[in-house]
Amino acid sequence: MRVPILALLLLAPLAARAEEDTPPQPATASVARLFNHLPYGETVTAELLPVPSLPGCSMAREAVFDVERLLAAARADGIALGAVSCFRSIQHQRRVFCAGAGNCDAVAALRARFVAPPGYSEHATGYAIDFVQRSGDCRAVEQCFALTQGGQWLMRRAAEFGFELSFPAGNKQGVGWEPWHWRWVGAPTARARFALAQANFPAVPAVQIKTAAGPEGRPPSLETAPGGGIYAVSASRWGAAILLASSATLRP
Ligand SMILES: [Zn+2]
Repeated sequence: MRVPILALLLLAPLAARAEEDTPPQPATASVARLFNHLPYGETVTAELLPVPSLPGCSMAREAVFDVERLLAAARADGIALGAVSCFRSIQHQRRVFCAGAGNCDAVAALRARFVAPPGYSEHATGYAIDFVQRSGDCRAVEQCFALTQGGQWLMRRAAEFGFELSFPAGNKQGVGWEPWHWRWVGAPTARARFALAQANFPAVPAVQIKTAAGPEGRPPSLETAPGGGIYAVSASRWGAAILLASSATLRP
């Protein structure tokens, strides 16, 4: 990590604390975003607990019960959900953000489309989780997750367990569509942590539920667009394809 991001990193914990002490600001207020990601700092390790059903996954202690309830409910519906990422420290996030990049700073803006810079990741709060469908062809953290049974189950049911989609397609925050990435907002402390994001860039998962399911229950599909990009579409009542995500939101 070179100087510019490091300098912002040093400010991140202070910004996160200020965020919790002040009410949400209007969208026009100066929100210290970095490549559209908000500063979250890092929760203290003592606040984390392992999620028993997900080896290697730790989350904020108050979120663990709801994660287990969600996984059990999915299992009861015949859906095997797993997770590829839960709490990530700032140090871990730095490795993720710069993975495979020869010059991390040079490609930072591009990478930030789908990976938050260190200090700006919801994963460092202990409230965010990247779900994955254990079976099927869709690889982890790919947008095809939205078309899997697990992805669609989450769109229908995750809110019952205190989860909301952080970055729906076309989100106002300007982060790429991440149908796998959910944050837990089931308690005031968690909601406070995301207050700015909720106030200024609300997630609108209902938009996706409507289009992903399709009024006639026809499953959506991934189709190749004339320009070569892949589009996720679903058939509408009138037979027209509804765009779920454009090629512009694909992982670079
Ligand atoms: Zn994530």
